[in-house]
Amino acid sequence: MKVLVPVKRVIDYNVKARVKPDQSGVDLANVKMSMNPFDEISVEEAVRLKEAGTATEIVVVSIGPQQAQETLRTALAMGADRGILIKTDTMPEPLAIAKLLKAVVDEESPELVILGKQAIDDDSNQTGQMLGALLDWPQGTFASKVEIADGKANVTREVDGGLQTVALDMPAIVTTDLRLNEPRYASLPNIMKAKKKPIDMKEIGDYGVDVSPRLTVVKVTEPPVREAGEKVEDVDALISKLKAKGAI
Ligand code: AMP
Repeated sequence: MKVLVPVKRVIDYNVKARVKPDQSGVDLANVKMSMNPFDEISVEEAVRLKEAGTATEIVVVSIGPQQAQETLRTALAMGADRGILIKTDTMPEPLAIAKLLKAVVDEESPELVILGKQAIDDDSNQTGQMLGALLDWPQGTFASKVEIADGKANVTREVDGGLQTVALDMPAIVTTDLRLNEPRYASLPNIMKAKKKPIDMKEIGDYGVDVSPRLTVVKVTEPPVREAGEKVEDVDALISKLKAKGAI
């Protein structure tokens, strides 16, 4: 079984994002970038499927700038077999990404595509679902457990107030949630080995896909600054403060 894992290069989750002075977006100059955390979980899941003998090949794909190669190398060091970089200096919207991924699926014919449930930069939570619709494949989103058996992917999903298990006919789309697994750190020998694994370099033009934006970002602003808290001596003091503020 071939598994395709799309991985996005995003602003590192530890970095405090700063808005550009002209409010056109987040300032990415000299900012640490890393693999989207949910995509690390997807790569880990694919590697575990390979270690269990269920998956035979893991292909990782990224759409982004030249530096997204580093993101692919990280995935290769974790255990993926080869990479595809679709190079672009723009950041296409989820629908355009889904169309590009569909073109890659048409070429590669994987039986399973594992995406993150969302990218932590745009928080869209759209790409997996759109890819499922474009391919007309079943999808199990927000997976906290994935089991492959008898040509089906059994996906346990985190839903409001509980867990739902769905059985998907393969080929299928899965999107990963935080509790699915804990991604491994790549060992030094594996980082060295990953340097020799192949990465196919592509351009958006190779896929004949319309990636023109459908949205206009009106403005990006910082969240309101939180007011400092106050320490109170006891519950009575807390109640009188709250009363004074009209909160109770
Ligand atoms: P989103 O819909 O933008 O929140 O992203 C959901 C998932 O789609 C991510 O976790 C990735 O698996 C995949 N994805 C989104 N953008 C890209 C990209 N530029 N390159 C590769 N995968 C992507």
